[in-house]
Amino acid sequence: MIIGAGGVGRVVTHKCAQHPEVFSEILLASRTQSKCEAIVADVRQATQHPALTTAAIDAEDIPALVALMRSFEPVLVIHVALPYQDLTIMEACLQTGVHYLDTANYEPKDEAKFEYSWQWAYQDRFREAGLTAILGCGFDPGVTSVFTAYAAKHHFDEMHYLDIVDCNGGDHGKAFATNFNPEINIREITQKGRYYENGEWVETEPFEFRKSLNYPNIGTRDSYLLYHEELESLVKNYPSIKRARFWMTFGQEYLTHLRVIQNIGMSRIDPVRFQGMDIVPLEFLKAVLPDPGSLGENYSGETSIGCRIRGVKDGGERTYYIWNNCSHQAAFDETGAQGVSYTTGVPAMIGAMMFLTGEWTGAGVFNVEEFNPDPFLAKLNEYGLTWHEEVGADIEL
Ligand code: NDP
Repeated sequence: MIIGAGGVGRVVTHKCAQHPEVFSEILLASRTQSKCEAIVADVRQATQHPALTTAAIDAEDIPALVALMRSFEPVLVIHVALPYQDLTIMEACLQTGVHYLDTANYEPKDEAKFEYSWQWAYQDRFREAGLTAILGCGFDPGVTSVFTAYAAKHHFDEMHYLDIVDCNGGDHGKAFATNFNPEINIREITQKGRYYENGEWVETEPFEFRKSLNYPNIGTRDSYLLYHEELESLVKNYPSIKRARFWMTFGQEYLTHLRVIQNIGMSRIDPVRFQGMDIVPLEFLKAVLPDPGSLGENYSGETSIGCRIRGVKDGGERTYYIWNNCSHQAAFDETGAQGVSYTTGVPAMIGAMMFLTGEWTGAGVFNVEEFNPDPFLAKLNEYGLTWHEEVGADIEL
């Protein structure tokens, strides 16, 4: 059962339907059923999957979720709606004995703050119920976490410095648009930055640190230090890490728009009174910005996301870079969605496949780096996101 019929939900539905031997029955449920129907019509045509259905669901309504899960009886929920719904869907899974997977950690609507504590608190309940919850199985978090696990397993005795680098070298031709849900995206990047060093979190002003980094097949791009959720679980699961940072590229035009949006109050997440009703400016802004799902056509260029790691192996210092480049156009040709939705949806499908085929097992709440990275990365190559690695790379950081 897939929840969420946005850009990512479109890709997940396509990719699951390409593997009916694993995903024999698929229900796509979301707030607006017509969006589910439009996706399913495309997927049916592309894959001829024989058992695709849709439903309307408010994923913040636990009794409604429980009723839908009781009637469809899914083995696993792939949650690709919004992070606000993580906890209600986890609750419904516990009530119905259904396993759970998502791509973004919980954040409350009234506070732009995301961390794993809320979902890690479900550990005992999932373990006691014999259920698996797989957290953060998109690209970042997700593939970046698996890349780190793969590096730890095959290339390092100890990892010391981890830099996750995320570049969107694409051009969608719009003056300003976000590549995934604008509300979630703008909340994320206007927060203070944070990185981990010597056992402590160091806070930075938004966009305070910039480095010019070179990305394969794209070139040099200004990259800014941000906080990103996988840092929290990676430093916990790899205690040898002394410093962990996350960098994302932004163009000057994007940053200028963002500054204006903030300066005029349109990024506010508290309600304001307007013509007799309460509206949240950022929610209103989302309604007038381009739908990320519509950016695919004529989107040129590539994304490039990877991990640059420094540590020791066999007594010597080692550097290592592991990354994927994804073409927006190729993603659109296959699924009707742009590269950012594609790079999130493909790993979500593969994570679900890992679980359903018994490669990833265990009762409790897990971040993806806790599982065996090898079968996941083998499928990543096979199912659309080829990855590359370089030992001894100039990692620039
Ligand atoms: P979209 O905004 O395009 O889609 C979200 C979908 O969720 C919409 O169809 C929306 O319905 C639906 N939805 C919202 N609220 C509810 C609700 N209460 N009940 C049921 N359905 C609801 O977002 P994206 O597809 O771009 O992103 C999906 C998720 O993926 C987000 O959580 C995002 O944070 C995550 N993500 C993760 C990444 C990673 O690498 N780990 C990268 C990019 C995204 P409606 O259409 O009616 O509004």
